[in-house]
Amino acid sequence: MFKFKIENRVGKARTGVLKTSRGKVATPNIATVATHGKIRILNKTDHKRANPDLLIANTFHLWVNNKVKEIRKAGGIHKWNRIKKPTMTDSGGFQVFSLGWGKTHKVGKVAKGGGLPVGEEMGGTENSAVKITDGGVVFKYENREYKLDAEKSMKIQRDIGADIIFAFDECTSPAHSRSYNEKSLIKTHAWAERSLAEHKKLNARALKGGGGGQALFGIVQGGIFEDLRKKSSKFIGSMDFDGFGIGGSFGEKEMGKVIGWALDGLPDEKPRHLLGIGKIGDIFTAVERGIDLFDCVIPTREARHGVLYTKGGRMSIGRSIFGNDNKLIERGCGCFACANKIKRKDIRQMFKTDKDKARRLATIHNIHFYKTLFREIRETIAIGKGFEKLKKEYGVG
Ligand SMILES: [Zn+2]
Repeated sequence: MFKFKIENRVGKARTGVLKTSRGKVATPNIATVATHGKIRILNKTDHKRANPDLLIANTFHLWVNNKVKEIRKAGGIHKWNRIKKPTMTDSGGFQVFSLGWGKTHKVGKVAKGGGLPVGEEMGGTENSAVKITDGGVVFKYENREYKLDAEKSMKIQRDIGADIIFAFDECTSPAHSRSYNEKSLIKTHAWAERSLAEHKKLNARALKGGGGGQALFGIVQGGIFEDLRKKSSKFIGSMDFDGFGIGGSFGEKEMGKVIGWALDGLPDEKPRHLLGIGKIGDIFTAVERGIDLFDCVIPTREARHGVLYTKGGRMSIGRSIFGNDNKLIERGCGCFACANKIKRKDIRQMFKTDKDKARRLATIHNIHFYKTLFREIRETIAIGKGFEKLKKEYGVG
């Protein structure tokens, strides 16, 4: 089952409800990253305490670590990890391409200070680890060779069995030139058609066999180029996807503009997911332009590195100023750690004496912080006021 209903609007921002067979998700919201099918470092009890609304597992990592067969045999990811939460998987493409351009250009998902193209000679995704053809991608990972294409990605994601899956696309980097993006978009659009065709076939077969259907999201690409983004939005938006992802990586400066172009041709009534983005300021920017869903490694990854989120800003808890800080991690926070009156100085000390426990508590706190952020965003949209004030409370703008 997959349904999406928009409930309130302020300008382009909206709240809604996503219904899946594993439960409802109020939007805007963020999928917590569960790379290997579970949130890293958390045990079963922690998972319940953190209580994320939505999870996203990583197709690439599950696949190259030989977990997909095991998951299929168990009857899908929800039975395998015993976590009955609405779950997504990505297409696996992002990691493949980042093995190429990420290593060549040393860039991640968001480039610092603007993502200006630096010319065709810098624009290639291919290197010794990744070869791309119109058909798909061949890549080397830990001395093994793999092939991934639209059909294969759909098959793997079907075997994993998440509620929402993504079409196979080529993710370009901010270092990619215009001409590279033009060529790449042709591939991404052809792969979107192939992904949708394969998905329909697999979905029909699963439903006939009494299994559950999956929702497929198409992905808009086009780099930081207005005409390419709009072209991609129109093309992908005209197809029979259940929702849409906005892909690619771009500079922080152009994020708002790029999102606007990317949403331009999409049907209003379907959900839109901004892939891999989750900094607080970027979330506000994107929600204002009509994004419903996010996923990002920030809350959990930073927690494992001792970075705790509060409305007053990020705290690197290892810093000496927190050595005598008797305040709670965040006053008023209802997470397991704060409800148990854990002070800043305590968790700082715990990172030295019982690192695993400290990382678990920090992860639970940061997930709760993001849940609170999104709940407050939804509340301001629902009552039609307070969005700008909320931004300021979170130190944005
Ligand atoms: Zn807390």
